[in-house]
Amino acid sequence: MKSDIKLFENGKRLDGRKPDELRNIKIETGVLHRAEGSCYLEWGGNKVIVAVYGPREAIPRHTQNPLRAIVNARYNMAAFSVDDRKRPGPDRRSREISKVISEALGHAIFLERFPRASIDVNIEVLEAEAGTRCAGLTAAGVALVDAGIPMRDIPVACAAGKIEGQVVLDLGKEEDNFGSADLPIAISPRTGEILLLQMDGHMTGDEFNTALDMAIKGCHTVSEIQKKAITEKYQKTEGD
Ligand code: ADP
Repeated sequence: MKSDIKLFENGKRLDGRKPDELRNIKIETGVLHRAEGSCYLEWGGNKVIVAVYGPREAIPRHTQNPLRAIVNARYNMAAFSVDDRKRPGPDRRSREISKVISEALGHAIFLERFPRASIDVNIEVLEAEAGTRCAGLTAAGVALVDAGIPMRDIPVACAAGKIEGQVVLDLGKEEDNFGSADLPIAISPRTGEILLLQMDGHMTGDEFNTALDMAIKGCHTVSEIQKKAITEKYQKTEGD
């Protein structure tokens, strides 16, 4: 669908952001008491909650790996998370997102320390406004730290994309709907390794390189917000 909305005009985007500006991000950890680790994250209009359980014995037993833990990330969009009510339950999109997030998180966790175990990461999207896989993965990184799961690094995600021929950071809803490309990535900020990279739409090679650099920078900014949320939680706990 093509729209008449001008997504980029006079150096500004529809919501007033500059090309390399993120939406507002708020992260809080330790929000659920029954889960081993949890995180609530707002990213622009996205609202996501993550609950981590485990490591615990993987069930059914045939899913167990005798050498390492498995990561079961389950991404779910609530029926009320979008304007038109979304049909509840898993669909192709949520299965795909769950799979790529599981793989990205699995790379950061010391899985070999927990043979036959599963680490379950429930990602519930309460409100969706483009970029939910990045929001979910970023929140999952924080919730895994809160659960005390040993990791090489805290994985973090951010997208860049293209609107009206302009490469921009962190697409909003209209930009995602009517823009020409979206490139969500996840990285391990300490090593710089790329843990996830997906793209829809089209970009030239040069635009792709610019978008990738922009998304990596965005990940580093979000990583600082993750660390701040974790530090705040533990400072609070110490003060109790
Ligand atoms: P991401 O949320 O990671 O950007 P997509 O690009 O697939 O993933 O989706 C973009 C946005 O489209 C979502 O954030 C959400 O706002 C909207 N969306 C996705 N699936 C649905 C759906 N089934 N019904 C209504 N809106 C949806």
